[in-house]
Amino acid sequence: MNYRKLLKIPQNLIRRLSSRTLNWLALGAALPCMGMVAAFALVPGTGEQQAEPRIEVVTRSLALPELHLDDDSTRYWRNEEVRNGETVSRLLNRLGVRDSETRALIHDRTLAHPLLRLKPGATLSVQTNDNGDLYGLRFLDDEDTGEKTLIMLNRQHDGRWQVSADPAQAQTVETLRTIAIGADPAHALSRARIPAEIGTQLSDMFSDAAGLSRLRPGDRVELIYRSELYQGSPIATGPLLAARVTRKGKTWQGYYFAHDSESGAFYDAAGHALKQGFSHAPVTGARISSGFGLRVHPLLHSLRMHEGVDYAAPTGTPVVAPADGVVAQAGEENGYGNRLLIRHSARLTTLYGHLNDFAPGIRPGVAVRAGQLIGHVGASGRVTGAHLHFEVSLNGERVDPTTGGLQAPRLDAAQRVAFARDSARLGRQLALLNNIPGHIAQVD
Ligand SMILES: [Zn+2]
Repeated sequence: MNYRKLLKIPQNLIRRLSSRTLNWLALGAALPCMGMVAAFALVPGTGEQQAEPRIEVVTRSLALPELHLDDDSTRYWRNEEVRNGETVSRLLNRLGVRDSETRALIHDRTLAHPLLRLKPGATLSVQTNDNGDLYGLRFLDDEDTGEKTLIMLNRQHDGRWQVSADPAQAQTVETLRTIAIGADPAHALSRARIPAEIGTQLSDMFSDAAGLSRLRPGDRVELIYRSELYQGSPIATGPLLAARVTRKGKTWQGYYFAHDSESGAFYDAAGHALKQGFSHAPVTGARISSGFGLRVHPLLHSLRMHEGVDYAAPTGTPVVAPADGVVAQAGEENGYGNRLLIRHSARLTTLYGHLNDFAPGIRPGVAVRAGQLIGHVGASGRVTGAHLHFEVSLNGERVDPTTGGLQAPRLDAAQRVAFARDSARLGRQLALLNNIPGHIAQVD
């Protein structure tokens, strides 16, 4: 039986269930076509004191349930990427939304304004039914400041549209995945639908010491990462919390440890930092005031994806290059204000936003050394106060600078105790994953 195909439609349902307790009989009853269903039950849970999770493989024949399809149950969400040169109308058309519905939406200026800003590559989630009636839209609005806001458009019962993104409906869960490497090692991660940013963090965690590009059939990868759900569907992922790679019988293991609410780094089982990192921080001694990832905006009470970290520092504070590189861009850029981009290698770039000024001689093409002054903290662009917005991109994918570039601080005595407790819990879950047959575990 093709489990992936069978489970394709109720994917959101699975994720929703996995965030609480799993009731596989209920899941089975919800599946439209029936037969033998083999499933494994895991209770991800983020609680500190958690009972040892149990694993059980259940194989049952399930009776075909009686279906009562009302209007609500035929609605479903689809995620689609905006293609090059494609308008929103055309995309909705491609998803089978009726023309009259699309026209009504596009002609409403409030609703259409952020929609029309969607760029190629952005993901639009669309809720429709089989008749092409439109019920909801969901996407991240790029504000060009290193932040994206989650926008939700929902059609109410009276037919009117409402714009909202209620942070209270967001939920954080831990996703556990096992990938048994089969005949096509090069595409194993993408075929297992591991999010690109998690794949990037995985190779970064081990600085490729684990030889992820040399995986062979019979090797295994086990992952635990955080997923942010909104109304049951994933809207963001990260950080990678724990990973184990088994290649040619040798095992590599790594764990994420949060130093505070805004930053963290990867460590081995003994609590030693897994990577060297940059030799310098871009701002010396400054606190990270806002970390990477999805967060609730304190004033606007909306959900925002922060694509870098912010350092709180007064205007004029020196900013230095964290590693050797070449200036790729230096100039004014909309919301970012004075923005500097440095290329450190073919795969690694860093970005500095809201600078007050650039240091003398800093212009595209110029080589910079680690620790060299490149500019000063400022409040240029769309900001409420002076700070440095700092981004790190690996292979074009924005990653958390605290795990993807900056030096991992040594753990102090108290942190070691917390790390031992957290890594032991994650280690138990990884061990559990190791006992699951790969072809079943692969579908979540
Ligand atoms: Zn920022």
